[in-house]
Amino acid sequence: MKNEVVFHESKKYMPGGVNSPVRAFKNTAMTPPIIKSGKGSVIVDEEGKEYIDFVLAWGPMFLGHCDDDVVRSITETSRNAIAFGAPTEIELKMAKFLCKNLNNVEMVRMVNSGTEATMSAIKLARGYTKKNKIVKFAGCYHGHFDGFLVEAGSGVLTNGIPGSLGVPEDSIKNTLIAKYNNKESIKELFKTYGEDIAAVIIEPVAGNMGVIKAEEDFMVLLRELCDKYNSLLIFDEVMTGFRVAFEGAQKLFSVKPDLVTYAKIIGGGLPCGAYGGRKEIMECLSPVGEVYQAGTMSGNPIVMAAGLSTLKKIKKNKEEYYKKIEDLGRQLEEGVIEIAKDKGIPVTVNRYGGMMTIFFTDLDVVKTYEDVKTCDEGLFRNYLKHMIKSGINIPPSQYEALFLSVAHTKDDINKFLNAFKNFNK
Ligand SMILES: *Cc1c(COP(=O)(O)O)cnc(C)c1O
Repeated sequence: MKNEVVFHESKKYMPGGVNSPVRAFKNTAMTPPIIKSGKGSVIVDEEGKEYIDFVLAWGPMFLGHCDDDVVRSITETSRNAIAFGAPTEIELKMAKFLCKNLNNVEMVRMVNSGTEATMSAIKLARGYTKKNKIVKFAGCYHGHFDGFLVEAGSGVLTNGIPGSLGVPEDSIKNTLIAKYNNKESIKELFKTYGEDIAAVIIEPVAGNMGVIKAEEDFMVLLRELCDKYNSLLIFDEVMTGFRVAFEGAQKLFSVKPDLVTYAKIIGGGLPCGAYGGRKEIMECLSPVGEVYQAGTMSGNPIVMAAGLSTLKKIKKNKEEYYKKIEDLGRQLEEGVIEIAKDKGIPVTVNRYGGMMTIFFTDLDVVKTYEDVKTCDEGLFRNYLKHMIKSGINIPPSQYEALFLSVAHTKDDINKFLNAFKNFNK
C-alpha cells in the first residue's frame, strides 16, 4: 500500500505527484512504484519489492545504480568542493576528456540538463549563422524548450498533448517540422526556406518515439543540404552519447555534425549536459563571442566528479562493456521475438546496443513516425502492467526506449523473458 499512499500524498504537493510528467504513469491506470534505493541492475520500492531496472533513470545509469567508483568520487569531492561558481580543475578535466574522446568536438560548454544543451546549441547556431529558422523532425524530442515543443516525442507524445499550452505562436514560428527518414520532406523545406535555416537538429538514433535509426543516405542528404545553405547540422546525442557505442551514434554514420549535444550518461546520474563542436563556432559564445549563455551551477564539481568517474570507467573497460551490452541486448531481442511469435503477439524490435524498443505492431519494419503510430497502445498497457507486477521495471510508454547497463546479467535477461512468457494479452 505504501506506494499508493506516497503517490496520493505527492499529488497534493506536486502537480500530478511528480517532477517530470512521464513518471506519473498517466494513461496506464497504474500507480508508479515509488523508488527508495538501487544497486546494480536492481531497484527497490517503498514496499520493499525488487525490480530489475530497464529504465536506468531514462538512460544515464550505464554502470548500474550506485556504482562503487561513482559513489566514492561523489563522496570524496563533496568533502572539499560543493559549488564555487568559479573555474575549477575538475571541469577542465571533463572538458579535456570530452574533446579528446568525442569526434567532432573541439570545444565544449557544460550545462545542467539535456534541454539546456539543445536550446543553447540552437541559440549558438542562430548566432553563428545569423539566421532564425530551425528544422526538427516529428517524433524527435529535444527537451522542453518552447521552440521544440512541436510534434515532439517522449512524454509529449505519451500524454497525447499536441504541443503545450504556454508556448506562444511567436516562439514556434521559426520551428519547421520535417519527417524523419523522409528525403522529400526535408528537400521541400530547404527549397522554400533554405536561406533562413540556421540549423537542423536530429536524434541520429531516435529514442523518443521508440528506437528508430536514421538511414545513412538520409543523413548524407541532411549534410549536403546544410552545406549548400550554410546551415548547421546538430546531432542530439543526449540519449545516444556513450550509449549506442563509446563514440555515440556518430560511429554509425559517415556524416559529421557541426554541433553535438550530450547529457544523461555524461553526468553519471547527476544533473548534467554539454554541447560542443568546432572551435570557430564555439568561440561565438560569451565571453569570447556575443552569444550569451550562462549557468550558476554549470560545471559543478560534484557533477563533474560523478560524470568523469563514469566516463573514465567506461573508457577503461570499453571493449568488455560494449560487448557485454551487445550480447545481453541480442539475448533480450531474440528472446522477445521468439516468445512473441509463440504467443501470436505481433512485435517488431528495434535495437542499437543497449537501447531498444518493442513495438506492438503488425509492421515488419518500423522506420518512421507514421509507422510508430500503428502500435497497439492497449496491448502495451497490459504488457506494462504485467511486467511491473512481475518485478521488471520498463518505461511506462510505447514510445520510449528501454536500456541495459553493464551491471545487468544473463540471469536478469532471463527474468525479463520469463515474465514476458507469462504475459497473457
Ligand atoms: C532526455 C533527452 C533530452 C532532454 O534532456 P533533459 O535532461 O531531460 O532536459 C533531449 N534530447 C534527447 C534526445 C533526450 O533523450
